[in-house]
Amino acid sequence: MTARSSILVADDERGIRELLTWELGAQGHRVETAADGADALERIGEQDFDVLISDVRMPKLDGVEVLRAVRKLAPDIEVVIATGFAEVEYAIECVRNGAFDFVQKPFHVAELLAIVARAIERRRLRRTAGLYEASRVILDGQEAHRLVESIIRLAMQAMDADDACLMLPDSDGGLYVAHSHTLSPEVRGDTRVKLGERIAGRVAEVGTPLVIPSGLGADPRFADLTSDGRVRSSIVYPLAVGARLVGVLCINRLAPAARPFRDADLDRASVLAAQILLALENARLVTQVAASERLASLGLLAAGVAHEINNPNGCILLNHSFLAESLSRFGSVASTLETERRSESQSAAWTAWKAFGGAAAFGEMCDALAGIGEGAAQIRDIVHDMRALSRPQNHEPMVFDVNSAIRSALRLSCAEVRGTANVSMALDADLLVRGRPDRIVQVLVNLLVNAVQAIAGAADGRPHEISIRSSSEDSGIVIRVADDGPGIRREHLARVFEMFFTTKDGTTGTGLGLAISREIAQSHGGDLTVESTEGHGATFVLTLPAAAGCGER
Ligand code: ADP
Repeated sequence: MTARSSILVADDERGIRELLTWELGAQGHRVETAADGADALERIGEQDFDVLISDVRMPKLDGVEVLRAVRKLAPDIEVVIATGFAEVEYAIECVRNGAFDFVQKPFHVAELLAIVARAIERRRLRRTAGLYEASRVILDGQEAHRLVESIIRLAMQAMDADDACLMLPDSDGGLYVAHSHTLSPEVRGDTRVKLGERIAGRVAEVGTPLVIPSGLGADPRFADLTSDGRVRSSIVYPLAVGARLVGVLCINRLAPAARPFRDADLDRASVLAAQILLALENARLVTQVAASERLASLGLLAAGVAHEINNPNGCILLNHSFLAESLSRFGSVASTLETERRSESQSAAWTAWKAFGGAAAFGEMCDALAGIGEGAAQIRDIVHDMRALSRPQNHEPMVFDVNSAIRSALRLSCAEVRGTANVSMALDADLLVRGRPDRIVQVLVNLLVNAVQAIAGAADGRPHEISIRSSSEDSGIVIRVADDGPGIRREHLARVFEMFFTTKDGTTGTGLGLAISREIAQSHGGDLTVESTEGHGATFVLTLPAAAGCGER
């Protein structure tokens, strides 16, 4: 798209002013005129021009003086000097002083138009190059949790705006305010826009940027929308990768004296939007990498620990079965002794048996040994889960029962859960999904640990419960992990899946868990959502497509 440019023609000859107004206007440009140098500078002070075509000799201020003043006042403007034959030396002097080019009078219109076109292109490139540089400095190496703030800062700086706001997709298919320069966090939390609604929702739906030069109220396209009159002029830009909406950037000018945005500003906005999109996409990739790195380091750790535990536990299990078998054989000796007791004989064996504690003591020994057996079997299962989590062949998708993933996750997080909450489970049978069980276990461990941390954080001293339910529903295989902890504040609800959003301190929270978990759910063709009312716990709903041909309704 060739955006309209705005051009100021400063010439004391009326005929030239009229000719250029007509010719440049026919090219789609907005043209203003000034009859002398002082008038030209006044206009440049008031408005934003892309190109100034200035006569070299004018009353009040001549071309070089105008040029010097313009360099200070609006250094971005490209200046084209129009000169007579005798003044070529002088025109060259102007070029040395920063004019873009000069054209000799009487000029061929085509020649002048070509010079103007090149001047416009250079201005665009210069502004763009500056923008690339600025965005690189601001966005590169940015700590990710500061990214949205930096994006807003860059947008305002680059577009010479006094307000900006970044909206990102929320879990309901709408948009929420990720950051805004002027909206308070409370208002931000309350602001939600559905696709097709208000300006941001429309831009997100249609996918093309909008310039609103004089505010909503004055724009007949938006007669159906109410406006608080705060915004004088704005650009609303969709950020998308193909059909995937990444966000919407709103750039506003609020000050009454600010120059209104115009179509020509879209050029610059498009470069800005591309840079911001890149930064947001990079941050998303960082999350994915973090997800696999987290898994990899967890896997490595798990593999090491599992190996260390497995051998001594194998020894315990072996000795346990030996002892269990010996004890069961000793059981027949014990019943003989008990029979002796019944016949009231007082043999030395019976006396010793009684001193030992008789059948009651023997029963306790059997129970204790059974306890050891159960504990060792649990350790064996946990080790199995840890190994499964780290096994490379697990990276291939397979069909598995989500209930086994739930049980694994519970075993892996039992240390955290114990002492904080009771766990209740209601699992429907045969819930087969296709994917990576290690990843689904990772999501569930995450949800369980979050529930435990939320409950522990409330520290209200009352008993708590975490319930895990699995079922087959129309939407697919659904796993609900619910807790009766403090729940999630309304303004945080849409933000919990954002990367790096955490309400925990730096040592407990990274703000990555849910972002990674949702990424994993979505990469399985499913989703992870949350329902919560502050003060009444939180329910995380993991939906996964049923494995084709099995478990589908
Ligand atoms: P982190 O646990 O590192 O903070 P997460 O992405 O796992 O990162 O969670 C983000 C935020 O979501 C948490 O800081 C917390 O505010 C909120 N949250 C997650 N689970 C729960 C829950 N079960 N109850 C209340 N708040 C929760």
